[in-house]
Amino acid sequence: MAAAPSSLGYAAALTYREDVGGALGAPETTDPAPELRAKVRHLLALLAAAKSVVAFTGAGISTSAGVPDFRGPAGVWTLQAKGKPLPTLATPFSLARPTLTHQALLALVRSGLVTRIVSQNVDGLHRRSGVPRSALSELHGSCFVEACARASCAAETVRDFEVGTVGFRGTGRRCGACGARTRDWCLDWENPLPRADLAAAEAAADGADVALCLGTSLQIVPASALPLRTVKAGGALAIVNLQPTPRDGAATIVARGRCDDVMAAVVAGLGVTVPVFQRTDALLLRLRVTPGPRKQSMVLTLRAASTAGDGCPVPMVSGMEVALGAPPGWEGDGGGDASDPDAPDGAATKFPFVVRLTLAPGAVRASGTVILRLCDAADPGARRVVRGFDMPATPGAATDHVVEFVSQIVDHGPAAAEAAARFWGAEEGGEGEAGAAAGGASAARRAKRIKT
Ligand SMILES: [Zn+2]
Repeated sequence: MAAAPSSLGYAAALTYREDVGGALGAPETTDPAPELRAKVRHLLALLAAAKSVVAFTGAGISTSAGVPDFRGPAGVWTLQAKGKPLPTLATPFSLARPTLTHQALLALVRSGLVTRIVSQNVDGLHRRSGVPRSALSELHGSCFVEACARASCAAETVRDFEVGTVGFRGTGRRCGACGARTRDWCLDWENPLPRADLAAAEAAADGADVALCLGTSLQIVPASALPLRTVKAGGALAIVNLQPTPRDGAATIVARGRCDDVMAAVVAGLGVTVPVFQRTDALLLRLRVTPGPRKQSMVLTLRAASTAGDGCPVPMVSGMEVALGAPPGWEGDGGGDASDPDAPDGAATKFPFVVRLTLAPGAVRASGTVILRLCDAADPGARRVVRGFDMPATPGAATDHVVEFVSQIVDHGPAAAEAAARFWGAEEGGEGEAGAAAGGASAARRAKRIKT
């Protein structure tokens, strides 16, 4: 069962602006395969010779995760300009999984080649993929981050749910580090770019041998001017995007191809392994026993809520089933029902889940088993978490457990190898084309090995 489409909360939360600037809805084109291969060979040669690469990313790297772009033919601003309603998300932000491109960039950060990722995306997928904050500039903020309002602290908290507002508004929650109030950390139109992120992006661009722009139409300054700093400092600019950009004239390479295809060919060419994505979420489980309606009976109450507070959703959990005294691995019908176990898409608004069980005399000492039904964007309900726990010893007392669980695992490795083999595989004669660079030739050989 697929998750129901959601409205695009972020774009709807922004202040309405009729003129969003820049070009909208330009046709998307793809280079003929031999031409694209030659460009990627050239890119590989640049990367092989580079000590430092800065990556600039835009909405185009997240479209394969089900997140719409803004300026594409069916983009958010393109549709708005035509008076049409905002597009729906195939996957809610909170369930979106990092794409092959996100994971490839993570691999390049870990290898030390990419020194900084500078993103205009607010979907939080770079952080979710595991890119360290110290290697990331989020120029427009993030839908998942709230930041301490106290300037001397400014601690950031990454949530597993969308914070929900834009423009640095109060969230009603407190900073875990200092107790001050927190605000959302997502820019509205009028907000200046976050100073520290921008300064780090400028320094990275100045020091890079290559500025690699992926899935961004480079329309809006100052973000779109940053890659030019690399050119000014003597480095090269490489652009991978389906639409033309105003910076194409300054670029050494302009590749019209899908980011996932190009990055699959790039990591294969560089001999870099794409890391497996594994997401871990958590919730707070509170157990309480109280005297029941019959003599010596007890009522067991289990309450599952976000670790961020009762009012917060837990997008990855769609329901809760409870069994008592069941053996490990038990997955049968539960002894109790979640408040709405058949509504995975509505789970975010249903929390906290509360299950009450009336226990016969003597059952209080039994150990229990909680089964959580999880919502995976690709396969809701496919994963379950089974946790045993002990009953609270004292009636009326509550015991809290923080339950951590792996909610998504994605291995883009096989798909990347296949995409790379497909990318290079149709090549006739392989390395004979004019402009073929050494890095590209070895990439082609490597990709062919992968294919066999
Ligand atoms: Zn603080």
